Amino acid sequence: MHPITAYGAFERQEVTSTVMSRGEGVFVEDRDGRKKLDAFAGLYCVNVGYGRTEIADAIAEQARKLAYFHAYGGHGTEASITLAKMILDRAPKHMSKVYFGLSGSDANETNIKLVWYYNEVKGRPEKKKIISRWRAYHGSGLISGSLTGLPLFHKQFGLPLEYVKHTEAPYGLRRPDPEMSDEAFVDYLAQRLEELIAKEGADTIAAFIGEPVLGTGGIVPPPAGYWDRIQPILKKYDILLIADEVVTGFGRLGSMFGSEHYNIRPDIITIAKGLTSAYAPLSGSIVSEDVWSVIRDGTNTHGPFGHGWTYSAHPLCAAAGVANLKLIDEMGLVANAREVGGYLKAELTSALVNHPAVVEVRGEGLMCAVELASLKDGKSAFNPSDTVVPRIVAEIGRKGVIARPMPQADVIGYAPPLCLTKSEADIIVGATRDAIEEFSFPA
Ligand code: PLP
Repeated sequence: MHPITAYGAFERQEVTSTVMSRGEGVFVEDRDGRKKLDAFAGLYCVNVGYGRTEIADAIAEQARKLAYFHAYGGHGTEASITLAKMILDRAPKHMSKVYFGLSGSDANETNIKLVWYYNEVKGRPEKKKIISRWRAYHGSGLISGSLTGLPLFHKQFGLPLEYVKHTEAPYGLRRPDPEMSDEAFVDYLAQRLEELIAKEGADTIAAFIGEPVLGTGGIVPPPAGYWDRIQPILKKYDILLIADEVVTGFGRLGSMFGSEHYNIRPDIITIAKGLTSAYAPLSGSIVSEDVWSVIRDGTNTHGPFGHGWTYSAHPLCAAAGVANLKLIDEMGLVANAREVGGYLKAELTSALVNHPAVVEVRGEGLMCAVELASLKDGKSAFNPSDTVVPRIVAEIGRKGVIARPMPQADVIGYAPPLCLTKSEADIIVGATRDAIEEFSFPA
């Protein structure tokens, strides 16, 4: 059973599926020898590109030396110690410790338990609710899926759980009044957040979680000033800030972290994908010195932090992480993401700006999106049964480029490996332009 798949349609062979067999740089090849430029880096995770033997060798060497030892009760391996140090060298200076997991979803589960434990220690067990945003993506577990703000992950599951409340997304294109300036829109978002806090009661709210740039919800950079405006509100009500950097961590925005990019001072940072470039599954919760010291001291009176996975800090994954972070530095990928990301956005914009169905080309670093809208009025969504964006993306695929139809909007998403060159960016732009120009849009 595949994740996020319509099983009936799959068994009737109505969905296009591929069996991939190899990859190199930004290209992947299926078992029939068809080669494509992967403009979404798998699921925005293969950041250093495919086929990096340095990482494969590091995993093999670790497997030969010590395939596994657990991390419970203070144990560890050299690989995980080295990696934690490398992460903290790159993270904002006030961050202090790393708790390793395996996926972005489980790291967000960990974060919520860290926050709850923290508030228990502080003697305020009623401060447990988490504010997230509509259109957010934080995973698909029970709490992480509740934090996610997309109906697909809630319907049929009785989610979100009662602890999770959602506020408005900083989705500029869909602001309530198109005449609103960025500043007025940010004021509006801040006001909606304050209203939610007042309604729920600040003493019941533990944390706010947000992706620096909304990812799965449509690849949406925030309006100017958003994070500057939100953070003082959280401070005022003693609400912790969790920056979910599963996508933005380790260079995707052209900065090492999205927190650095937008001047965010988080209490906890979620990391995954780019930590190992998906050569092995590994995630982490980076915890600030303030949160760490409360939890550490709390264990003296409240007992050990009752949370762990057998594979927390798995040495094979940690070895992959060490080799991956070295490669990101050696290949200059953070600067490349900034430069080639700027180029990709500019080229997509000039190729598509005059097409009547294109309402916005947006992005930050190597996260880009093209939003489309009905030709009727140039702004409303397409009828989902017309499957406009999935069909355009399939056509882009036939032209040799893998893009992603984002699940919650008429958006084509791009998040290629950070080693993308300008001439590879040209291939993405050409395939997109031709697919959109040749497409018969519904009247
Ligand atoms: N957080 C963000 C921002 C993500 O984009 C994702 C996955 O796309 C997750 C969390 C969940 O990560 P995983 O799929 O590894 O559980």
